[in-house]
Amino acid sequence: MTQPFDHVVIGAGHNGLVCATLLAKAGRRVLVLEARDTVGGMATTREFAPGFRVSACAHLLYALPEGLARELAAHGLEFAATDLATYALNPDGAPLVFQQGTVVGVDERDARAYAQLRTQMARFARVLARVLGMEPFRVTLKSWRERIAAGTLALSIRLLGKRQMREFLRIVGMNAYDLLTENFESALLKGALAFDATQGAEHGARSPGSVLTLLYRVAGLAGAGRLGTAQPRGGMGAVSAALAARARKAGVEIRTGSPVARITVVDDRAVGVLLASGEEISARSVISNADPKATFLKLLGPGYLDTDFVRRIDHFRAKGAVAKVHLALEGLPAFRGVPAAALGARLLVSPSMDYLEGAFNPSKYRELPEHPVLEITVPTQADPGLAPAGKTVLSINVMFVPYDLKIEARAAREQLGARVEAVLEDYAPGIGALVSAREVLLPGDLEREFGAAGGHWHHGALAFDQFFFTRPVPGAAGYTTPVAGLHLCGAGSHPGGGVMGTPGRNAARKILKEGSPHAR
Ligand SMILES: Cc1cc2nc3c(=O)[nH]c(=O)nc-3n(C[C@H](O)[C@H](O)[C@H](O)COP(=O)(O)OP(=O)(O)OC[C@H]3O[C@@H](n4cnc5c(N)ncnc54)[C@H](O)[C@@H]3O)c2cc1C
Repeated sequence: MTQPFDHVVIGAGHNGLVCATLLAKAGRRVLVLEARDTVGGMATTREFAPGFRVSACAHLLYALPEGLARELAAHGLEFAATDLATYALNPDGAPLVFQQGTVVGVDERDARAYAQLRTQMARFARVLARVLGMEPFRVTLKSWRERIAAGTLALSIRLLGKRQMREFLRIVGMNAYDLLTENFESALLKGALAFDATQGAEHGARSPGSVLTLLYRVAGLAGAGRLGTAQPRGGMGAVSAALAARARKAGVEIRTGSPVARITVVDDRAVGVLLASGEEISARSVISNADPKATFLKLLGPGYLDTDFVRRIDHFRAKGAVAKVHLALEGLPAFRGVPAAALGARLLVSPSMDYLEGAFNPSKYRELPEHPVLEITVPTQADPGLAPAGKTVLSINVMFVPYDLKIEARAAREQLGARVEAVLEDYAPGIGALVSAREVLLPGDLEREFGAAGGHWHHGALAFDQFFFTRPVPGAAGYTTPVAGLHLCGAGSHPGGGVMGTPGRNAARKILKEGSPHAR
């Protein structure tokens, strides 16, 4: 047994690093154990073809709090681009351009309706941002602290005013399809907004909860402030590298290449971990950045949990629905209607809600979309160092790719890659001839490589029944678990995924409020 630490954090994903840093800054001795050879988990950069590097999962920041970004600048984080515009690509002509709160390319009526909806969503997102930033309270509101938190939240909804409060309660449970149909005419505009209402999720625009996903994104962007949608220089791994440098500066010890095999429990309390190498490490508490299924079912083991809890974790929905496609190009593609100078923007292929639903439907039957919905970035535009001189990288999030595909993975990679390239050809004629290498990462590949259950963007579906005081499941919400001394700090806990560090920050705050681990 080594000298005990106050806390052992399982996983150096960005949330594990945020959590560890805050604890170390409060004087705790913290060890982070990472299975992979690099830190960052799904916020990482890697080479996918000789000389071509890319953000392997997350490729754009939408929700990194501005204050944290400023702190990370002191640890080497730079941005290649901030406040990126979104181009909603149009198969038949000019794209729509979203920038600085306006949309260009729609008629006056839609432009006005967009401004109105945006103002309203921003107002509602402020309420949601409050929810995202708080530690979930128990529905029983047993402590004064919980009652105050619930009261403050209720007040912030009430302060919207009667009309807006009613509207908030009306739309929050609606589906995006109906909301967008109520407001807009332009199919392209509705398609682009429906993308934001389904990003990272396994639901379509007509599914309940899609307005929540839209609000989640708007709330995240509000927290990002002037950064807006941003591209870190060096890819997403640069964010994790800066977080790791900040953690080490605060006194955190980080060990990579150290997979944890088991959480050690003595007298119903987590007291350390057993590494796959056989090394045992003791700690006064264990914090898991691994996803909830892995934490409870693999690392802890069902033997320490009651059957009802095991059933709930077993049913926690965590089948990823986003694949990643990386293309190495010999030159610069020309997207129809996108000036070369704007190629570094966020490019969407979601030309209508029907198109989006058409891509979503096959996923229900474990099939690949014929015409996929895409979020494309060309990271080499603002950060040429990611590829050899004069060459280009395309990084593409492909929505609605089911985890449990009917067909075998090798064939699925081939089929999906070809379909993505075929769609790209419609928007950037001639692009196929530029492709020198292609990588397709299915949700199953992401699970294998990054360890997150189902390769899921949020470590588990972000939906009303898996949100706030029921995230991941009742009995493990609010970063505590049924086992004393074991906490969660990753995307599977409140408020969910995206590179923002909020679950890690909230978890650290909760642990610090619980008092010194020495006292127990
Ligand atoms: C395809 C895809 C695209 C995405 N695009 C975006 C995007 O553009 N923008 C955005 O903001 N978000 C995006 N996301 C979401 C974002 O990447 C994640 O929500 C976020 O990175 C999760 O961070 P985390 O720290 O909670 O968990 P993770 O990043 O999953 O980190 C968990 C860490 O724990 C480690 N670990 C697990 N088990 C063990 C063990 N037994 N022992 C030791 N270590 C262990 C893992 O190796 C990993 O490093 C995307 C996700 C996917 C899948």
